Amino acid sequence: MDLLPTPPGWDYAERLAEVRERADAACAAAGRNTGEVQLLVATKNFDADAAVAVVKAGGLLIGESTAQEIAVKADPVRAAGAHMHFIGHLQRNKANYVIDLVDCVESVATIELAERLDRVAAMRERTLDVMVQVNVSGEETKGGFALWEAADAAAQVAALEHLTVTGFMTIGANSRNEAEVRDGYSALRDLRDTVKLWGGADLARAHHLSMGMSSDLEWAIAEGATIVRVGSAIMGERTQA
Ligand SMILES: *Cc1c(COP(=O)(O)O)cnc(C)c1O
Repeated sequence: MDLLPTPPGWDYAERLAEVRERADAACAAAGRNTGEVQLLVATKNFDADAAVAVVKAGGLLIGESTAQEIAVKADPVRAAGAHMHFIGHLQRNKANYVIDLVDCVESVATIELAERLDRVAAMRERTLDVMVQVNVSGEETKGGFALWEAADAAAQVAALEHLTVTGFMTIGANSRNEAEVRDGYSALRDLRDTVKLWGGADLARAHHLSMGMSSDLEWAIAEGATIVRVGSAIMGERTQA
């Protein structure tokens, strides 16, 4: 696995400020407080030095999508003062390993994975924050619970003693059609609202909506995103120059 270095002449503080400005403008347009939306920097394909550099520039929430990359980056990134979220497909046999390196697993996409994480957390005598991943677009290539089953799934996950459900995560429709993409995000917000109202004490903390990326964070914020996961707009293109 060859991870990429920081692109030549790249300025993370500048990139962070530009994306923060976009997020703030989207908040203003939606009548929301800018403090309601956190930027998570998705550093996939970039090396540990690049990840640490973005933390030092003020990116205090980092997301990793593979066990391999989190192995390389979690310790230096957390030592630099950032929180680490897992945002990718997590194989059950890696749960044991990943759990010690993260503050939250956003991508809980099956009950079996939730049960495994719960067992590992129990062995560690800790609790783990998780989000329930939902496939709002129904695209076959995407992980996550279908919308129709997601409320039940959230209740099952939240009932596990060592997991705390802090919200919902989705990867939006692969489309440039604003109405189509926003429909998916608004469906996730409706799900969150319903679950918080009717889900009881287990789901009282299910507040977050992790949705939106570099190309569509404005649409996600308009629909209520509390975390936008931004990769290329902050880190640069993920292809080798
Ligand atoms: C890579 C990645 C992102 C960021 O994507 P960009 O389009 O580069 O902003 C967000 N979420 C997940 C789950 C990712 O894997």
